[in-house]
Amino acid sequence: MELFNIKNLDLASKKVFIRCDFNVPMDQFGNISDDRRIRSAIATIHHCLDLNCAVILASHLGRPKGEFEEKYSLAPVARRLNQLLKRDVIVAKDVVGEDAMQKAKDLKEGEILLLENLRFEAGETKNNPELSEKLASMAEFYINDAFGVSHRAHSSVEGITHFFDDEHKAAGYLLQKEIQFFGKLIQKPVRPFAAIVGGSKVSGKLEALVNLLPRVDKILIGGGMAFTFLKQMGYDVQASLVEDDLLEDAGRIMEEAKKLGVKFYLPVDVIAADKFAEDAVSKIVTSQEIPKDWMGLDIGPATVRLYREALNDVQTILWNGPMGVYEIEKFARGSNKIAHFVADSYATTVVGGGDTADLVQRINLDEEMTFISTGGGASLELLEGKMLPGVLPLVQDED
Ligand code: AMP
Repeated sequence: MELFNIKNLDLASKKVFIRCDFNVPMDQFGNISDDRRIRSAIATIHHCLDLNCAVILASHLGRPKGEFEEKYSLAPVARRLNQLLKRDVIVAKDVVGEDAMQKAKDLKEGEILLLENLRFEAGETKNNPELSEKLASMAEFYINDAFGVSHRAHSSVEGITHFFDDEHKAAGYLLQKEIQFFGKLIQKPVRPFAAIVGGSKVSGKLEALVNLLPRVDKILIGGGMAFTFLKQMGYDVQASLVEDDLLEDAGRIMEEAKKLGVKFYLPVDVIAADKFAEDAVSKIVTSQEIPKDWMGLDIGPATVRLYREALNDVQTILWNGPMGVYEIEKFARGSNKIAHFVADSYATTVVGGGDTADLVQRINLDEEMTFISTGGGASLELLEGKMLPGVLPLVQDED
């Protein structure tokens, strides 16, 4: 699948609208705690600045409810952009109001304008055509570099593309890279290929598991979702997280894995606790001997060793979802150990965004991975085999 490429656009000295994903985490003082998403957009912004474009940047941040809220203002993002680009960034007071429209109109070649949080406009998440049209009217070209939100049909992601013809829209460098990486991973991974899948529930990853099954050699399950599989196998998982309505699906996945010759691994031991809390009493038990009314909150040391063995010979690793409740230190060990094995492996290592990217960064292993996606939800939808609404309008016809 080839996307319209920013490199092929005739951008010199033109006005360009770039949809970025500056939805960065902030601490309680409003400081950006991780600017990876901003840094990931710099290549595309530089490309446009090098061609002397007038650059309009737009993003959402958090989940404001369709109106201005100070805590969701993009002002801190503007300051970080200013540091990273070493250029002034003009900040609009609104999205498509008088101030933004005037500033966009007056914007000169080589200047950068950042619009306010797109979700201050209620129409953004509703893919409102009037909002799309107003945003589109600001520029001659549209670039999507917001992978993290490309699974959403929103005004600035999907609707806006209808106001530009094929010579005036394209994917930015980040979007290209994400789509290429996941495309290769799904279509022609170097084998053996292992998928490590964790996180809270089977329901969130069911479709991805089904789509991955015919493509992988091994699946290693961790996190809360493991207990639905374990229960289906007849184990008494006590108070662990279980989705009873998905027991049959879990059974079918294991059956299908067997049929396809995919090695399907489940935790052989867990860290069980008397409650879901920092001050819980916990101990290591086999998956078959979780104490009455206790719950499994992390994979145990035997599982960690088993998974290391299983990962030894693979050439490609995809990791999506933590192995335990990694937000609580005493249940983070399994995820941290797996993160180290993945980081040390000679395989191509791809980390889905969201929690998995977060936990890898917490222990400073992000530089050791081949690729960390900037989009948790978007990458999951690619793994499910879906076409993203923000990417579809940028796909070139094959002929
Ligand atoms: P997800 O959003 O489905 O990828 O799940 C991520 C969440 O799963 C994290 O917040 C973890 O705390 C949680 N999680 C991981 N393992 C468990 C477990 N054994 N029991 C309950 N929650 C878990």
